[in-house]
Amino acid sequence: MTQTHKSSLTPLIAANWKMHGDMSWIDKVTELDALLPKNEREHVDLLLCPPFTMVSTMHVLGSPLSIYIGAQNCHADVSGAHTGEVSAEMLADAGASYVIIGHSERRAAGETNADVRAKAEAAKRAGLTAIVCVGESLAQREVGEAIATVLAQIEASVPDFVDVIAYEPIWAIGTGKVPTMDDIADMHAAIRSAVGPNVRILYGGSVKPANAQDILAVANVNGALIGGASLEMDSLAAIARSAPRK
Ligand code: PEP
Repeated sequence: MTQTHKSSLTPLIAANWKMHGDMSWIDKVTELDALLPKNEREHVDLLLCPPFTMVSTMHVLGSPLSIYIGAQNCHADVSGAHTGEVSAEMLADAGASYVIIGHSERRAAGETNADVRAKAEAAKRAGLTAIVCVGESLAQREVGEAIATVLAQIEASVPDFVDVIAYEPIWAIGTGKVPTMDDIADMHAAIRSAVGPNVRILYGGSVKPANAQDILAVANVNGALIGGASLEMDSLAAIARSAPRK
C-alpha cells in the first residue's frame, strides 16, 4: 500500500461510546478537560465519538478545549433516499472531524469490505479523518490466521490515503480479554509493513487504565480505541495519561 498522505503519529486516545449516552453526557467534555491539565495531555490527541445526536453540541464544547469529536459510522453517499442514514458531509457539517468506519459490530451486521472502503472514500470527500477498524475472530486466531486475515481486510477495505487504522481483535472487544503484548507487537508490525510509516495504528479491545500503559508502550501502537472504559472520564483520562511520550 502506498502512502500519499502524511500524518502525525501522536498517540490518539479515541473513545467509542457506541449507543450509550444522552444530552446530559455532553458535560463529559468539560469533565475530561478538567481531569487533564495541559501538561498531562500534550503528548496525545483526544477524541470522543458519541452517538450522532450529541456530535454537534459536543463539538461546540470540545473545539475550544482541543478535544476532537467524531462519529461512529457514515453513509457512503452525499445525500439521497437512505432513510435513517447520515452522510459524511452531514457529520462534517455538525462539527465532527473523525469517523469510525467498519467497526466489527457493524461488519457483523452485514457491512462488507467494499462498504467500508466506500465509507472511507466518503469520509475523505467530506474532509473527515476515517478510523478504519480491522480485526480477526477467535477462530481465525486459533488456527494461526490472525495476521493474514487482518492484512487481507486492510487490502480489501482500507484505501491508500487512510491515516488511522484500528486493530481490534473481535474476541477482545468488550470481553476483558486482551492479546499478549507479543501478539499485539507482531500484529502491529505486520500492519506497519503493509501501510508504511505515517499511518496511526490504534489498538482496541478491552483497553483499561490497568493495561493501557503496557499496550500503549508496544512498538507501532499509536493510540487506542476504547469502548467500555471510555464511558467514565476518569478512566479515559487515566488511559490518556499512561500513553508514552513517544
Ligand atoms: C470497541 O468497541 O471499539 C472497543 C474496543 O470496546 P471495549 O474497549 O469495550 O473492548
